[in-house]
Amino acid sequence: MSGKRKDIRLQKDMELELTIEDMGVDGEGIGKAEGVTLFVKDAVLGDVVRVKIMKMKKNYGYARIMEILDPSPYRVEPKCTYHRQCGGCQIQAVDYAQQLRFKENKVRNNLKRIGGFAVKEADGSGEGITVNPVIGMDEPYFYRNKAQFPIGTDKNGNIVTGFYASRSHNIIPNRKCYLGAEINEKILDIVISFMKEYHIPAYDETTGKGLVRHVLIRFGFTTKEIMVCLVVNGRKLPHAEKLVERLTELEGMTSITLNVNEKNTNVILGEEIISLWGQDYITDYIGGIKYQISPLSFYQVNPVQTEKLYGTALEYAGLTGKETVWDLYCGIGTISLFLAQKAKQVYGVEIVPPAIEDAKNNAKINGIENVEFFVGKAEEVLPEFYEKGMTEKNREDMLHPDVIVVDPPRKGCDEKCLETIVKMKPERVVYVSCDSATLARDLKYLCEQGYEVKKVQPVDMFPHTGHVETVVLMSRKDK
Ligand code: SAH
Repeated sequence: MSGKRKDIRLQKDMELELTIEDMGVDGEGIGKAEGVTLFVKDAVLGDVVRVKIMKMKKNYGYARIMEILDPSPYRVEPKCTYHRQCGGCQIQAVDYAQQLRFKENKVRNNLKRIGGFAVKEADGSGEGITVNPVIGMDEPYFYRNKAQFPIGTDKNGNIVTGFYASRSHNIIPNRKCYLGAEINEKILDIVISFMKEYHIPAYDETTGKGLVRHVLIRFGFTTKEIMVCLVVNGRKLPHAEKLVERLTELEGMTSITLNVNEKNTNVILGEEIISLWGQDYITDYIGGIKYQISPLSFYQVNPVQTEKLYGTALEYAGLTGKETVWDLYCGIGTISLFLAQKAKQVYGVEIVPPAIEDAKNNAKINGIENVEFFVGKAEEVLPEFYEKGMTEKNREDMLHPDVIVVDPPRKGCDEKCLETIVKMKPERVVYVSCDSATLARDLKYLCEQGYEVKKVQPVDMFPHTGHVETVVLMSRKDK
């Protein structure tokens, strides 16, 4: 029998029935046939589906759904009609509670497989680290405060906006995205009808001609301030005053600008901002701290969950007012300013100079004086301070902080950075991560160097996508 089974070879274009038994890192369904793993986009854990194989590799393959034979109990009707074409929400067809379980398991599995940690199961059984249930959202829609809509022309010459179809630059018309702020739709209506009326051409990527490339919208969730920025292939917008007139009828309109991008590139924003009306920034609050956000500023896109994420980081830092803290990869200083309210002194490090300018400005407008920011790579700035030792500028508290917080990009921390953290011997390390695979790798290193994992808290910053953020508290074993 077993000899015979091997004769069945899966091949491209073959159709077969499959039970989805697992979810992959991006939320895709995983099933097994003839001992081979098949990844099925848009399939939900528990589905029985008929699929067609699109591509075969040696030990795995990719298939697409032809028919859902028996839908999973976790399947829900997605709110957005376009969710399969768009690819922005990989798991919108999955019940939200199940999305959260999926994310919790993803963190757990990475800690086990990549970090080599013993981890308790979801039901609390077994030994090892506890991964807390994911902090989710009560209302997991319309949560993003920033949106960038591409503008183009369809086959019939009509101006369109919407989203790029998955892995392409074809615009699928849609003004209602369930992740973005609800005001976006009205703004897009105004921009598109203005362009039609005044014959303002959309930019064409293939020829490099035309004017309007993207509309960037930012919305302050607490202040209700709105920013509209048109990204243009030029420096002027004809009849701009008419657009301003219409946009300023919307309550909360605060900033209308142009962003100049004359390059033939995939990068959305250029460097220069030209003011059309109002200020060049909007103001928003997270956890009582005020931020000024310009079109070019980095700012967390889900303010409601950011407050929970950074609130957890602050709690884990365990501050009493006497501590010195380093905040590495500090961006515009969001975490630094949170920490500064409870610490003696905070030092932030960030590689992007304009982000540090924002951070300094944000400290100033909040009257926070116990923070200092440095531009540079964490893996260079930190060792430089440490290796130079105590000078007039470097004080003992800088070399031996009580707490170090890191919030690196997806690739995680550089080893030189981790090495220096260990040498500085902080009592606690708080790791905020947007990729639990590199998190697990870095935690493993720190645990080999004298630290232990105390708490693991995933937070759902991006409902309906496969992403999960995690805050981890580590402490020195000898303390
Ligand atoms: N905590 C920040 C966001 C962190 S996102 C906030 O709340 O705003 C990660 C940040 O790390 C980005 O701002 C990125 O520019 C920065 N970064 C990337 N590589 C870096 C490096 N090697 N050293 C320091 N900062 C880096």
